[in-house]
Amino acid sequence: MKYCLQGHDRDNGVQEMLISLLPDESHDKVEELSGEGCLSRAWEENGDICARADIWRGDKHRSAVVQCPIPVETDGEEYKRTLTYNVKSAVYQALVPLLDKRPAWGSMTGVKPAKPARLAIREGMDLAELDAWLDTHYDVTENRRKLCIRAAEYSLRAEDSLLPREIQLYIGIPFCPAKCSYCSFVSNDMTRWGHMVQPYVNSLLQEVEAAGKLLREHSIPLGSIYIGGGTPTTLNEQQLEALLTAVDTHFDRSVCREYTVEAGRPETITEEKLRIMANHKVSRISINPQTMNDKVLEGVGRRHTAEDIVRCYEMARKVSDFMINMDLIAGLPGDNDESLIDSVRRVAALDPDNITIHCLARKRGARLYFGPTGVLPSETLDACYAILNELGYEPYYLYRQKYMAGGLENVGFCKPGTASHYNICMMEELSDVIALGSGGVSKLCSEGGRKVNRVANPKFPKEYIERIETIADGKTHLLDE
Ligand code: SF4
Repeated sequence: MKYCLQGHDRDNGVQEMLISLLPDESHDKVEELSGEGCLSRAWEENGDICARADIWRGDKHRSAVVQCPIPVETDGEEYKRTLTYNVKSAVYQALVPLLDKRPAWGSMTGVKPAKPARLAIREGMDLAELDAWLDTHYDVTENRRKLCIRAAEYSLRAEDSLLPREIQLYIGIPFCPAKCSYCSFVSNDMTRWGHMVQPYVNSLLQEVEAAGKLLREHSIPLGSIYIGGGTPTTLNEQQLEALLTAVDTHFDRSVCREYTVEAGRPETITEEKLRIMANHKVSRISINPQTMNDKVLEGVGRRHTAEDIVRCYEMARKVSDFMINMDLIAGLPGDNDESLIDSVRRVAALDPDNITIHCLARKRGARLYFGPTGVLPSETLDACYAILNELGYEPYYLYRQKYMAGGLENVGFCKPGTASHYNICMMEELSDVIALGSGGVSKLCSEGGRKVNRVANPKFPKEYIERIETIADGKTHLLDE
């Protein structure tokens, strides 16, 4: 949709709202609007910040005005927040009557819906007030309000349990057996980049040593370790052993609550790799079917079947008492309501400790960006959640992305007592996360996650390997300021 701004500069706010409400359309700013589009205006009047949106779509026109008192100023930030809220809300109120359906998340566009909810509770709101605030302030539908409040409760508990200065550690392995069509991650296809794995591991061991030194010198407790990717189990047995041994050597794990390795794709998992993980006291793994529909798996370029997933899951259960998470994706091309619900039932029948349901997000850099995706009504997702709730799973963390199928969300479910501390801390920005490996972004968080300073490693393995001396040196000084 074309849009035009008058009297304000809240371009991002208008864009975000249009993307959230019309994810399958492109949105372009124009200097002057003629014909269809959105005109967003703002001005001050009688002590209020006022915003008005006019939308012309097809042969219909709708408008809305939102106004709030000008905040008593401190540093100008509150004024900007109020202006942005008014501008976005006006666009929302004008556009929603022209849509087929009220959006599940109302006018909430942030990627971490539980974060403002947690902060509101910290500032003294009780749960009933929070529910009312999400309803009136953002028009969030009832089921999403429940999800948000549940995730906020989990994050409050995680925050209260943090040790002083506790950090979480992320180690990235950016290789995969082959690239899935929906993925935009810098996952390097092993058929092409397999020769880079050993030099990458050698460099990573250097950074592991540097990060261990950093934590020791600052006496910082390590709360959790997460080895993700990519697919960490693309490492062969010797490489995996070397990495886990380096982690044991350089980090004090005496207060570490969990140690996760994303096993991901079943074709990369062997009994020996599972034994190596068990020997190094890895406590959680992820085995990710994405769907239990073989045709859909083939369509998105996964080279395994649902049966392979079951075999792998049973092997992992025999090897150790890992907590196991399984990921599913809703909205994959070729999938439909029935087969999604069937996938949820079949995965839940295996009785993993956690199940994470993602909604497909259209991402630049993914082959699927221009291709068809599955249709995903919020009712279908609600039916999946209801199945999990009945089986004793609770939603414990959630996040959203741009261009998500149905404008919905990703939700992690857990059996009681099995929530991942890392996932909550990382998603809610409760503590620092130190990230190692190419593409890793360390996050230094303060003020309960209100302020986050990001320090990124190079995105691509080649550059990471070439610059490892500087990167490892930088890691030892990460907390110097
Ligand atoms: S396995 Fe995961 S990281 Fe690798 S290509 Fe597929 S979705 Fe991307």
